[in-house]
Amino acid sequence: MEGYQPAYGINAASDCGGPQCQSHPDYCFLCSFEPEPSAAGTDDDLYQTIVDLVSDLAQQEKELPQIVNVVYMTYLKNVQPHLVWENPATGCTVTAPAWCKESIRRHLIHSNQFKFFPSIVRNIFHSIVVKQNECMMDKATTMVVDEHRKAFIETIDAYRKFETWASARGASKGK
Ligand SMILES: [Zn+2]
Repeated sequence: MEGYQPAYGINAASDCGGPQCQSHPDYCFLCSFEPEPSAAGTDDDLYQTIVDLVSDLAQQEKELPQIVNVVYMTYLKNVQPHLVWENPATGCTVTAPAWCKESIRRHLIHSNQFKFFPSIVRNIFHSIVVKQNECMMDKATTMVVDEHRKAFIETIDAYRKFETWASARGASKGK
């Protein structure tokens, strides 16, 4: 299998290069700390602060880059100064570990803790539809280019199927 790697690494010991936090050496706050409801007033409240913030912004359907920025600033100001983290790879203790935007983005998309996948796919569809519209007509003849029209209809058809799947998935989870 030389020259290949998994799309999503599931072996902690050998897989790297996957998209998720585990495959990257960067510090991730949500992977490094656990919520412990019994220990109110400690780091665990900070964990919940970040989780609630992400959930609120997602509920408001804010776009991912904006959510990453807000989480980054909130962590920097309100959470980071209170943390001490032991790097499991080196055994070194890090005071006030920095959580970079790339690591935040990676966790939000790939951790399964938050459900951003449908909104990302939706945005991809929107972008494709707008691009397909831009080249739908032949400038010289002002006629619809049939090949492009067919591709556009295919996109809309796939989008419709996706939305049916996404709403059934949402309903089955009691949303
Ligand atoms: Zn993570």
